[in-house]
Amino acid sequence: MSRVVDFVRRIRWFPTLVLTLCPAVGIYGMFTTPLQSKTFVYAVVMYFWSALGYHRLWSHRSYNASMPLQIFLLVAGASAAQGSVYGWARDHRAHHRYTDSELDPYNAKFGLLWSHVGWMMLKPKVDLGKADISDLSKDTLVQWQNRYYLLLAGVFGFVLPSLVAGCFWNDYVGGFYYACLIRMTVVHHGTFAVNSLAHAFGAQVYNDEITPRDHFLVALLTLGEGYHNFHHTFPMDYRNAIRWYQYDPTKWFIALCKWVGLASHLRIFPENEIQKGSLTMELKRLKKIQDSLDWPADVKALPVLSWESCEYLELRRVIS
Ligand SMILES: [Zn+2]
Ligand SMILES: [Zn+2]
Repeated sequence: MSRVVDFVRRIRWFPTLVLTLCPAVGIYGMFTTPLQSKTFVYAVVMYFWSALGYHRLWSHRSYNASMPLQIFLLVAGASAAQGSVYGWARDHRAHHRYTDSELDPYNAKFGLLWSHVGWMMLKPKVDLGKADISDLSKDTLVQWQNRYYLLLAGVFGFVLPSLVAGCFWNDYVGGFYYACLIRMTVVHHGTFAVNSLAHAFGAQVYNDEITPRDHFLVALLTLGEGYHNFHHTFPMDYRNAIRWYQYDPTKWFIALCKWVGLASHLRIFPENEIQKGSLTMELKRLKKIQDSLDWPADVKALPVLSWESCEYLELRRVIS
């Protein structure tokens, strides 16, 4: 009984309600409200906007953004209803600082359920690691979004989708179910999959001493955030994918912003370091293959035959 009471005491009710009611009501809407083509296109546009997220600019300072771009991204991030950038970036910096340890807020070693949603729904049993967020404390735009986060999330995440679909093609209810709740649910679980699936499945292309992996499906859901092995190894790089054929729309968006003058100082890790990471992993892979094959013994380990034993062997061969 006391374990149940303890468990209930650990529940964080607000995120738990958001994370259960959004999909539940959204799925109810899918069965009761037909999806109009315009609402579908609008929901996809909203998904791309809200999935741009906080990550590369505020968690990692991987580029500089002009004020209009910062406001655009702060409002977009609020519309995803994943908390203010201040709290989000604090947790994420701690995740990088203490990856795979008890101090990591979404420690992958506690299992998929914990790293996916558990850490948001339950208070941790131990004190989590602290990360330096002094730059965010002094950032007036970040503090503005933190102060008005609930209002911004309510207006841009919940009211706007319904209002746009209602005013332009008379689909208030469809806008609410699809462009708001279903879109939000997809963005939520895409982001959460970076912490869960991309720490459990996929390729360790640059570093196998930590759990993060490159996972294409997660990248597909999160506008390129799924190349997580690269990201954890080179966190301040504005790219998550570095090959031309890899899907990283967030990187393309940042490059476009630079091109039109809204972003600058895009940071990239030296190619030499990146190649060292991939070569180290390639050498480890080859070493495993080498160890699995039979090789000739060292010449020093071969038996030494005396003249007498040779003669004896020759005699046996002749007799037989
Ligand atoms: Zn991670
Ligand atoms: Zn990160």
